[in-house]
Amino acid sequence: MLTHLFRIHGHVVASHPWEVIVGTVTLTVCMMSMNMFTGNDQICGWNFDCPKTDEQILSSDIIILTITRCIAIVYIYFQFQNLRQLGSKYILGIAGLFTIFSSFVFSTVVIHFLDKELTGLNEALPFFLLLIDLSKACALAKFALSSSSQDEVRENIARGMAVLGPTFTLDALVECLVIGVGTMSGVRQLEIMCCFGCMSILANYFVFMTFFPACVSLVLELSRESQEGHPIWQLSQFSQVLEEEQDNKPNPVTQRVKMIMSLGLVMVHAHSRWIAEPLLLNATVGIPQGAIDEEHLSPRRIEPEIPLWQFYLTRMITMDIEQVICLSLALLLAIKYIFFEQAEMESTLSIRNPITMSTLPLAPRQAMETCCRKELELLQHHAPSPSLPSTTPSNREDIDEVIRPLLSPLNDPGSHNDFILGEGEEETKSDSTEPHLPLKPRGIFECVAILNNPQQGPRFLTDAEVMMLVDSKHIPAYKLEGVMEKPERGVAIRRQMLSEKLSSPSALSSLPFTDYDYSKVMGTCCENVIGYIPVPVGVAGPLHLDGKQFQVPMATTEGCLVASTNRGCRAIALGGGARSRILADSMTRGPVVRLPSACQAAEVKAWLESNDGFQAIKEAFDSTSRFARLQKLLVGLAGRNLYIRFHSKTGDAMGMNMISKGTEQALNKLQQHFPELHVLAVSGNYCTDKKPAAINWIEGRGKSAVCEATIPAHVVREVLKTSTEALVEVNINKNLVGSAMAGSIGGFNAHAANLVAAIYIACGQDPAQSVSSSNCITLMEVSGPIGEDLYISCTMPSIELGTVGGGTNLPPQQACLQMLGVQGASEVCPGDNARQLAKVVCATVLAGELSLMSALAAGHLVKSHMTHNRSKMNLQESVGTCTKQAS
Ligand code: NAP
Repeated sequence: MLTHLFRIHGHVVASHPWEVIVGTVTLTVCMMSMNMFTGNDQICGWNFDCPKTDEQILSSDIIILTITRCIAIVYIYFQFQNLRQLGSKYILGIAGLFTIFSSFVFSTVVIHFLDKELTGLNEALPFFLLLIDLSKACALAKFALSSSSQDEVRENIARGMAVLGPTFTLDALVECLVIGVGTMSGVRQLEIMCCFGCMSILANYFVFMTFFPACVSLVLELSRESQEGHPIWQLSQFSQVLEEEQDNKPNPVTQRVKMIMSLGLVMVHAHSRWIAEPLLLNATVGIPQGAIDEEHLSPRRIEPEIPLWQFYLTRMITMDIEQVICLSLALLLAIKYIFFEQAEMESTLSIRNPITMSTLPLAPRQAMETCCRKELELLQHHAPSPSLPSTTPSNREDIDEVIRPLLSPLNDPGSHNDFILGEGEEETKSDSTEPHLPLKPRGIFECVAILNNPQQGPRFLTDAEVMMLVDSKHIPAYKLEGVMEKPERGVAIRRQMLSEKLSSPSALSSLPFTDYDYSKVMGTCCENVIGYIPVPVGVAGPLHLDGKQFQVPMATTEGCLVASTNRGCRAIALGGGARSRILADSMTRGPVVRLPSACQAAEVKAWLESNDGFQAIKEAFDSTSRFARLQKLLVGLAGRNLYIRFHSKTGDAMGMNMISKGTEQALNKLQQHFPELHVLAVSGNYCTDKKPAAINWIEGRGKSAVCEATIPAHVVREVLKTSTEALVEVNINKNLVGSAMAGSIGGFNAHAANLVAAIYIACGQDPAQSVSSSNCITLMEVSGPIGEDLYISCTMPSIELGTVGGGTNLPPQQACLQMLGVQGASEVCPGDNARQLAKVVCATVLAGELSLMSALAAGHLVKSHMTHNRSKMNLQESVGTCTKQAS
């Protein structure tokens, strides 16, 4: 029954916040102007000379009062410190509002009921502060903050009132009765203190039941989103709303507020005119002036001789020692709270955080993350929600204490980094201030407001809240890295969201994602990123090539490959090194265009092959880049289709983007000459990119390179463990005849793709381009004065690579390019770095060919793969199961 009443009360207050706020304020202001309870006509302000009672103030009293004030200040400081841990700016704001307004009400009550002058409040306020309990106010605020719509806010405030109202009423009653006993003690100071105590409890209760829930409801209503997705309390938005109101019909809510406020003000005025003035007259008319001053101890109006600021300045300068102590303490704590508290809180949290206490390797950390999440889910299931009446605030605070350390690694955006920071990097970590995030996701409006607030942003949202915003399409899923304060957090959240959709939610636990510079990936290399694949990188070398030595990075999971290449490099080095040349350097793009007839297509072909035609197209093409330079056009015709293969230099870039841009521009020019020409596709597979095609093998694509070496007979015997004749014979029958038998195009080699792919992955090349880039013919001959040495060459017509653009912008890949001294754009001549890399690729292929062919010739291949490439893991069980199933 009682609960029901409080619930109705809560609902009424939350539904009519403006009315309640204005009503409460009006009542308080009216009370200030009332003198029916007091003999004083005026409050003793700066322009009233207040009579001083001749009370004997003992020094012991002063000490007690000073200590009480200091305790009150420290107590209120701790209350705010606890609130900050809850991590909501709303809670802090609401608590501040509650304190200020309660103090105001209390002061009013003290002045008028106890007949105290304003300056006497410094005795009363400390007692009030000591008895104020912000936790209940915050508990009610938390009920409201767990809502996602305004209707829910009202409902939750009503529910909160139903839960907290009876307890709070009972508490207030009991406290009043207990403290009230002190007012009958006969000890003057104790009586005053107890009286203050009772007043403060009543003021607190009054504010809690009226002004406070109305304010909470109003604050949340104002913070709801406008149609444009901004909270309407944002200044720009607010002014916009006001402008709209002026232009259009008046807003009924504003009208209502205006009316209520006017009514309140009229009441205040009427009260002070019709009630306060006659009383004042009565008080002054019948009593001589001197009597008022001296006998009735009422304040006497004085004509101010000094301005207001000077009056208070003089008062401040002539402060007593106890006032100086209290003021200094309050100032110190305020400064500590505002400027230093955040850092302290962080360090406390990081000490309490079991995961950040030690630097853990990746796998255990992930296990712990999963474990924490499970534990958290468990606790959240068991933790009473604010909507359950049985939940008491103290319960929740206990739960907070338990959950927070577990939650922080999951919710603290910065905590991911805690794992990857080494000891030396601790300082950088402590520099950043971490917001304290709530345990339960806040309402969607509030989250959007936080996200859009330039002072806050995604750092102030928990992962769960960000996921909620992604689900509600406020954050596009593909933009997570860009929207988050750090791309890594975006990746982490995407992983969490993905894991929920996977049949095995722990599937991603072994896919690393931390300690990676995603800013280099975003918008360039990959989208919807969920981590990265670490591939082992080995090194083969020194590779002696053209009088220089190279250490070749190779990213591969094929055992034997690096070791084998290394042996080839040794054989080359012992043979005096390899020599290489670039034969051609032109990337290609082959669009398909269509004309109304085959004859018209033939005309276009002829124009493109003419000097004028080529020059016109070249001019358009070359204008698109500082490096793209059209070299030739190869035009194929099929019926009324034209296939135009643009050949262009691309500097140090592999050049596919660059040349596509140029091709598009050139086609525009072509269309100007032949308006009936229709571009079917900017790529007509005549390029040909990432597909096996004879055109690349015959015409070349990217860099065409050749590399040769002579291996002395003794090196063939001692290092390669075979003979020149055996090698030559295997090469003819495998790489030439065998490939011809297989109808191979460009595959006249043993395993060029192995070397190309390994170098491409290590050096940030497009791995799909290993298709054409591996085109290679390996030739071996007997040579030397006595015909025992081995001459070997590798010719590779289509090595598609670059040292700028694409994956070459990523730091690890750049490190591998730096190993070869070819990272970035060449400072000498554009394209030199890319050409040098192509020569290294060709020479490494030669080393690989040499070693593998030798292993084949010597019959070592199977043996060495069994030793170096066979998985050592016990797969027996799965094989057994499979066999059983099969049988
Ligand atoms: P890019 O990064 O798109 O272009 C190279 C950029 O680097 C250009 O802006 C160029 O300037 C500039 N640059 C500065 N110094 C240079 C130098 N010395 N030499 C050359 N360029 C220099 O790279 P891209 O090679 O053209 O394209 C590579 C990307 O294309 C890779 O990510 C690859 O995966 C992708 N790709 C695209 C296609 C496709 O069909 N579009 C096909 C396969 C692969 P300018 O602006 O003056 O040219």
